[in-house]
Amino acid sequence: DRVLIGNKVSEGHVNFTIAYNMLTGIRVAVSRCSGIMKPLTPRDFRLSKKLAFDFHGNELTPSSQYAFKFKDYCPEVFRELRALFGLDPADYLMSLTSKYILSELNSPGKSGSFFYFSRDYKYIIKTIHHAEHQHLRKTLKEYYTHVKDNPNTLVSQFYGLHRVKMPISFKSKIKHRKIYFLVMNNLFPPHLEIHTTFDLKGSTWGRYTKVNPTPKSDEEEAHRPVLKDVNWLEEQRSIEFGPLKKKKFLQQLEKDVDLLARLNIMDYSLLLGIHDVERGNDLIDERNILTKFSPDQNGLQEIKRASMAEQQARYKSVTAVQHYFQQDEGGIRASDQFNNDLGTIYYIGIIDCLTNYSYLKKFETFWRGLNHDLKVISAVPPRDYGDRFYEFMQASVNRVPQKPYKDDPNASE
Ligand code: ATP
Ligand code: CA
Ligand code: CA
Repeated sequence: DRVLIGNKVSEGHVNFTIAYNMLTGIRVAVSRCSGIMKPLTPRDFRLSKKLAFDFHGNELTPSSQYAFKFKDYCPEVFRELRALFGLDPADYLMSLTSKYILSELNSPGKSGSFFYFSRDYKYIIKTIHHAEHQHLRKTLKEYYTHVKDNPNTLVSQFYGLHRVKMPISFKSKIKHRKIYFLVMNNLFPPHLEIHTTFDLKGSTWGRYTKVNPTPKSDEEEAHRPVLKDVNWLEEQRSIEFGPLKKKKFLQQLEKDVDLLARLNIMDYSLLLGIHDVERGNDLIDERNILTKFSPDQNGLQEIKRASMAEQQARYKSVTAVQHYFQQDEGGIRASDQFNNDLGTIYYIGIIDCLTNYSYLKKFETFWRGLNHDLKVISAVPPRDYGDRFYEFMQASVNRVPQKPYKDDPNASE
């Protein structure tokens, strides 16, 4: 058995195996969690279920190509969360249980997390740190209550929290490793191109992305990087919302930020994708929009088989429950001062919201100990972080044009 695993978990295949195990685990766990929904009890917020997979299978688990253990945290709570977010159980399973995941986005952030997209591009699997997983479990009740009270919350939609434990070869030794991961919503639509993306935190320290003003090729043009706060200010960008949408947006943002501060969370961002309706899918044509995530070849083949229209129809059928900020093609249209639609669709959400302040503090002390630059991590307490975040966004809705933004001397890169 071990030899087999050892061979399978070889270089180049290791992430495929992880992805395969994640999907197999989700498929079995989610389909087993399908009786009548009963009102949640405090116990449901503590309960987790374990499954053991192997080549032979048994009455509880079907046979699996690889041997691994799977843990499903608070299955009943997440099942209810999925219902609150308007997901159809069958559709959820369909999207996540294909043999392979569409693509892996290799650690776009500094955290070392991996991102996987479901092949229909609707869901994201993000590997998270043990501390993040712990924090989510500890605060799941508050998160759940918030989602229940705020159907239009902008905070990341969590659909499942899981762990796989499997042998991984490291420096020619086989070690059993635990990998924690989350299933969440992909903020961006499968059928429309995002022309510009901003990741905004409300601070300027190190929040600048260098951009090539004259992209040499379509390829370069299509791989535009995620822009940050300093780019936002420099370009004098703003979120164009008429009075109605502005009020809705800021009210929701305030409640969401308040939740995160209460949960002692910081370092989250407002992720903003901008689709220009007039431009449409101008950069996609033959190449698929998904190539920007350089999916593996299998995934790409698969997605190409489904036409854009098909994807769109499927997408609409699942987003039937109306979320205020997903009312137009899965996003929300810009509007003018008379609340009339403008030719821009925004995709907005608060992401990366599992970083506990005390966890960051530990890191800061660690860096200090090593005599590193203190400002490598500019941690401020969660309430201050939230206030700064909210004020930045508030000032960003229908900004009155000002004199050009002066370069921030602190901005790195
Ligand atoms: P770090 O902690 O260094 O910021 P991270 O690994 O925690 O990084 P995130 O900040 O969660 O990663 O996300 C990194 C990038 O991945 C985002 O800037 C965004 O481009 C993309 N991304 C993350 N979550 C989503 C989502 N739900 N929908 C669409 N894109 C996302
Ligand atoms: Ca982040
Ligand atoms: Ca993070």
